[in-house]
Amino acid sequence: MAHIFLASPHMSAEGYEQAYIKEAFDTNWIAPLGKNVNEFEKELAAYVGVADAAALSAGTAAIHLALKAAGVEEGDVVFCQDLTFSATANPIVYEKATPVFIDSDRETWDMSPEALERAFEKYPNAKAVLPVHLYGLPANMDRIMDICRRHGAVVIEDAAESLGSTYRGKYTGTFGDYGVFSFNGNKIITTSGGGMLVCNLPDEQAKERIGKVRFWATQSREPARHYEHKEIGYNYRMSNICAGIGRGQMKVLEQRILQKRQIFAYYQEHLGDLAGLSFMPMHEGERANCWLSVIQLGEESPVRPLDVMLALEQGDVESRPVWKPMHLQPVFAGCDYVDNSGVAQSLFENGVCLPSDTKLTEADLERICKIIRGLWG
Ligand SMILES: *Cc1c(COP(=O)(O)O)cnc(C)c1O
Repeated sequence: MAHIFLASPHMSAEGYEQAYIKEAFDTNWIAPLGKNVNEFEKELAAYVGVADAAALSAGTAAIHLALKAAGVEEGDVVFCQDLTFSATANPIVYEKATPVFIDSDRETWDMSPEALERAFEKYPNAKAVLPVHLYGLPANMDRIMDICRRHGAVVIEDAAESLGSTYRGKYTGTFGDYGVFSFNGNKIITTSGGGMLVCNLPDEQAKERIGKVRFWATQSREPARHYEHKEIGYNYRMSNICAGIGRGQMKVLEQRILQKRQIFAYYQEHLGDLAGLSFMPMHEGERANCWLSVIQLGEESPVRPLDVMLALEQGDVESRPVWKPMHLQPVFAGCDYVDNSGVAQSLFENGVCLPSDTKLTEADLERICKIIRGLWG
């Protein structure tokens, strides 16, 4: 039996990606930048409904440049969702700012508005806030935006995992001042590696900010015949080849979201009766892209997450724990953390991410569920 991946690249059956790459080869537009990059930016901006977008080498690079665009400087406090991948927090440290981690909310698994309010009481001058739409589950953006507006903080939405998720009819990544997407190999669509930054200020301002981000991302090269630099630059742009893959992947994004949601529905239907097993939260008026299907094993469960992961591993099936909260990471040991009854830690300790590869067949899903059900006896 074949190995089952957690989430792996899934190119279109039609070969759209290769056609865009071929065009780049045929015109020798391998680098730099080029038509695929420009078109990919336009296509993603049109899809989520924003004025402009900058294609970058990674989602991490997009978070880094969003922090710069937000004016975050040495010593500034930045509130960051505690339950996330370290790539959300690392760029705060690149800019010598101070991350303060905010616990999650039970209802959304994302940043707790209550904990965020308390964080502002302690740090009224916090410069920016980084909520995350974890596993594609929309954060409570209404309340988070309201709190941040009242305190004058810039909002950078980490939508790396949530491309295509909607909250109250609008795409995640388009609520905050900035939104970040990732096309890393395991994300819902991939360019082999890459990211995108969008800005949600009024159109003219957004275009100017995104222009500035493109400037920083291409070594801050001033418009002069010789190489002239007035600011520190970065080599953060996406290549024309990667962007070609991205253009092809955009054509199947809606299909992938449908498939991810079907995988989640399958698990709900076939594991929902197991004692103590519950699923990640879904809310009316929202569409989660279900990037990964995640379960929780509560007190009534006779089975622990490690049992599930080991049993799946025995069957050549990949799964993994929920993200380990940032305040528990040795690298961030010195950082402050605002608690909401330890929700993030509990989600980590009780959670398993189940295989969510869009290439999974019904037989694969049956095989996975059979292994899991076996643990309940
Ligand atoms: C993947 C991911 C990132 C980073 O994106 P890269 O493109 O891998 O740099 C940031 N935040 C979260 C929550 C992610 O899952």
